[in-house]
Amino acid sequence: MTWLAGLFLFAATVLVMEGFAYVLHRFVMHSKWGWAWHESHHRERDGWFERNDLYAVVFALPSILLIWGGLNGGWGDWATWTGAGVAFYGVIYFGFHDVIVHGRLPHRIVPRSTYFKRIVQAHKLHHAVESRDGAVSYGFLYAPPVDALKQALKRSAAARVRAAKGLSKSVVPAEARTSDGGSALVD
Ligand SMILES: [Zn+2]
Ligand SMILES: [Zn+2]
Repeated sequence: MTWLAGLFLFAATVLVMEGFAYVLHRFVMHSKWGWAWHESHHRERDGWFERNDLYAVVFALPSILLIWGGLNGGWGDWATWTGAGVAFYGVIYFGFHDVIVHGRLPHRIVPRSTYFKRIVQAHKLHHAVESRDGAVSYGFLYAPPVDALKQALKRSAAARVRAAKGLSKSVVPAEARTSDGGSALVD
């Protein structure tokens, strides 16, 4: 495999990982089964580690295996490039999500670009909801416009209030639309 093809595969892997992380976060971590580990990330952390970190450990394994197989196992260069792409996504994810958004390591990075501000705010909006249902913005490096997320958050807060009160869709009390989700928004 040429360097160019390898770099292309590496970059493609990073992009695919973002899609994979979105699907995993939305449909596994916020599902009945996945919530057992992920819930810790939607609560106040007690100490440096949280149970949710186990996901990172699990997803480091295929990356290590691919790199090992590519370098020593005779699997071919594709395995090394792909494994490196998965590892690189992990590094970006940790830097963006754990360090910049959640401040798990001290830093002085202030998001200035429109894109950077948007993904940081989008993930903070994801944390406006502490329950398994009703969250918005499951991606990390891509996020819809912040206004669209705020609207979605208000709708889901109203939907939860409706569900709790057993009201029909057409009857949404005004106070429901601005309760919890609304006040938790980060501006
Ligand atoms: Zn989550
Ligand atoms: Zn988070």
